[in-house]
Amino acid sequence: MTTAIYAGSFDPITKGHVSIIRSGLVAFDRIIVAVVINPNKKSLFTVDERREMIKASLDADPRVEVDGFEGLLADYARKQNVRVVLRGLRGVADFEYELQMANMNRNLNTEMETVFIMANDYFYVSSSLVKEAAILGGDVSSVVPEIVAKKLRERLGR
Ligand code: ADP
Repeated sequence: MTTAIYAGSFDPITKGHVSIIRSGLVAFDRIIVAVVINPNKKSLFTVDERREMIKASLDADPRVEVDGFEGLLADYARKQNVRVVLRGLRGVADFEYELQMANMNRNLNTEMETVFIMANDYFYVSSSLVKEAAILGGDVSSVVPEIVAKKLRERLGR
């Protein structure tokens, strides 16, 4: 059984993330969606809220596990005994950074490989853009799962 870790901030999860997870499940038997816990980074949703929204967005698919971790992804992967890290590529803008990260992670954990999946229809969607639009009163329901649209409305008092 091959497991991959899909790590990110997921503040909040978008339809872009969901499509990467669904595509990932074509290649891997199990995916651990791991929320990066970074106390220094300002976030709109707590780690627990983000985990809840991820679970709900994937209809509690038994092949998907939702977790959280603090510190190095390389260490987390080692601890979980997982060798594959899944990332999504939205375009050339992502490439430079991802190339650096993949190689740094290779150095930090020589057993680990990063695998990329190309973004589909939601290639232009990012959590930060979603937040920006929602805060300004925009309707983002077409680019985020239903639960996220609802939570955003609640959080932003609409
Ligand atoms: P990070 O803070 O690590 O960038 P994100 O939650 O923004 O965390 O993203 C996690 C992963 O999901 C990254 O590999 C990113 O490229 C990918 N991703 C984000 N948005 C999309 C999207 N719309 N389509 C495909 N992949 C995406």
